[in-house]
This record gives sequence, structure tokens and C-alpha cells, in this order.
Amino acid sequence: MKLKDEGGRMKDESDSLAFVLHPSSFILHPWLRCLMLSQVVELIESKNCFGITSHVRPDGDSLGSSLGLYWLLRALEKDVEVIMRDGAPHAYRQLPGAEAIRVTPSVDRPYDAVFVIECSDIDRPGLIDLEKQFVVNIDHHSTTELFGAINWIDPTASAVGEMIYNLCKATGVRVTEEIAEGVYTALLTDTGSFHYSNTTERTFKIASELVRTGVRPARSAEAIFGSYHWPKIELLGQVLATAKRDDTGHVAWMRQTLAMQELTKACDEDADGFVNYPLAVGEVQAAALFKECSPGLYRTSLRSKGTVNVAKVAEQFGGGGHRNAAGCTLAGSWDEIEQQIVPLLQDAVKRANGSKSEPPAGD
Ligand code: 5GP
Ligand code: MN
Repeated sequence: MKLKDEGGRMKDESDSLAFVLHPSSFILHPWLRCLMLSQVVELIESKNCFGITSHVRPDGDSLGSSLGLYWLLRALEKDVEVIMRDGAPHAYRQLPGAEAIRVTPSVDRPYDAVFVIECSDIDRPGLIDLEKQFVVNIDHHSTTELFGAINWIDPTASAVGEMIYNLCKATGVRVTEEIAEGVYTALLTDTGSFHYSNTTERTFKIASELVRTGVRPARSAEAIFGSYHWPKIELLGQVLATAKRDDTGHVAWMRQTLAMQELTKACDEDADGFVNYPLAVGEVQAAALFKECSPGLYRTSLRSKGTVNVAKVAEQFGGGGHRNAAGCTLAGSWDEIEQQIVPLLQDAVKRANGSKSEPPAGD
């Protein structure tokens, strides 16, 4: 089978046979990525009824990519629905198709296949009976488990949205305005507004085509980053007041208590983005936000700069993510969880800096 790559050129699977398997992750040769994509294309061509889902507490990439795929399959006149355990956060409800997402605790009807978007394992969507379906795993995290009957993994993609764009090209579906809105949102959010190191020339090329299709960057940015409600600001004030850093100044962390959330009447998604604030300080290279979600249980967001690897820290507690953005859930007292995570972040910084850790300038 011949496929078109993202530039529209024809690729032959027999181009090369080499690919490299890595112990914890795998660096996939373009040939293997092409083969995986061809399996997805063949499935779409041969079946009719599809489900799409993604991880609990969906974010910009999971929602934008799921809805992009939804519109792609609709364009091919397939029977398709998006099912999620959690609804779309306020910031993403303007996305075309967001209103059609069915929030459900279980996969309660049969599909020919269910696409699982951006999930590290079969449990991440939080859907009962998902494992009984024909599952297609689509992800750009190299650490994902190969839990699907088909696995399409592309660690070179800045977001799964980029893969959905490639799927449009491979299936010959025109990138409509609806698809473009989803894919653009995926790119914008997963690259931290084109700040992070996963931002590539290809990301901008695709974004440029999406803008040509009708996406308005200012409108998307305002919907996602400029439509918060006031409790978020009050919560941010309280969380920032807890910020601490270690002696080197390279590691910073913050707490968000249940009491803060109750007092400010903030909702769960209001803490999104808070963990990035300490990283705005020059010498801070790793940051953590501990968010109490029930007494003694903390959703933990980790962020870092450069080669500091926080995914490895999250993985030690059953979580995961990317080198510079990861998360996990911790149990214990406030002091216990800080004593567990802070030294690991310090080690990660030391490893990245080749063990030379200097105190911060100034105070
Ligand atoms: P956030 O801090 O925004 O919740 O998550 C940052 C990144 O880490 C995202 O790519 C997200 O998918 C990943 N992540 C967060 N929590 C978990 C988790 O519990 N398990 C895994 N595998 N990844 C997570
Ligand atoms: Mn992503």
C-alpha cells in the first residue's frame, strides 16, 4: 500500500526496514509509523461504526484530536460518536462537535472499533468495558503501552492533532473548518502556545494550513486562555502564596488545598496552568503543583525546562507524560508527598545539568 506523508508526497512502505526498539519506549522509524498509519486507514475504509474516546479530565489535545477525528469520520459518512468519562472543560466548549460528546461511565454499545486518543494505557479513559472493544491506540507519547489491537504511535508529532491532520491526508479527506478548529486547538495547547520544544517546523506548517482553512488564532487563543471566571484568579492568588523553592532555586513547588477550592468556589479545571507560574523564574528548572483532590490524595502536576525529565519522576508513582510535562497521583500527608517528590526533582535537575547545581543569583 502507498501512503501520502504530511507533505502530500507518496511514500512506499518498503523504503526501509530498520526500526529501533528501546527498553521503556521505542523510537519508531518512519517506515513503521507509516505501516501503523496504513492499518488505521484500512480499518476506516473497511468498517462503518466507530467510537472515539480519550483520557479522564480531557485537555486541548485530547478534545481537539478526538473532535478532529470525529469530523474526519463524519466526512467519510461513518457512524461515529465521541464518548468520554468527563465532559469538556469550559475553555473547549466552543469547539465544533463539543456539544455532541456523550459523557458516560462505560462503553455501553458495540462499535466496529473504538479509537483511544492520547492514553498511556487502557485504564486512562476511565471507561468500564472498553477492553471488550476492538481498540485502536493513537498517541504521541513514546511511553504508551501497546494496548490496542492496532497501535499508531508517533513520538515525533507535537500533538495527536498533528497525527489527525496526517490521517486526513492519508484518507484523502479535505481538512474542513471543523477539523481545523480541533487540530489547531490540539497544537496550540500541547505546544504551550508554540513555546515548548515539541514545536517544530512541521507544527507551524500545519498551523499555517489550518489558518488558511479558516482558523482564527486570536479567537482560538481568547476562547482557551481568555475566558476564565473570577474564582480562578482568587484560587491562583492562594496557590501562589504557598510557592516555595529549594536552596538551589532550581526546584519550586506549590500546594492547592481542598479548603482553598471551597473558599474560592473554584472548580476542578481552574487549577489548569498554575504549575507553569514558577517556571517563569529564570533559574527554576522544575516545578510541582500538589492539588489535594480528596483528604490525603493529591493530583500532582510536574513541569520542567530543557532536558530535565519529569516524566521519569511521575512514572515512579504510576503516572506519566512527557519529559517537560507529566503528572501522577500521590497519597500521604503534605510533608510526606513533598519529601518524596522534591528530592527526585532535584536529582532530575542535577542529572540534566551534569551534576553542577549552582545557587540562584540575588536573594
Ligand atoms: P497535567 O499536569 O496537565 O495533568 O498533565 C501533564 C501531562 O502528563 C499530560 O501529557 C498528561 O497526559 C500526563 N499525565 C498527567 N497525569 C497522568 C497520569 O496519571 N498518568 C499518565 N500516564 N500520564 C499523566
Ligand atoms: Mn498530547
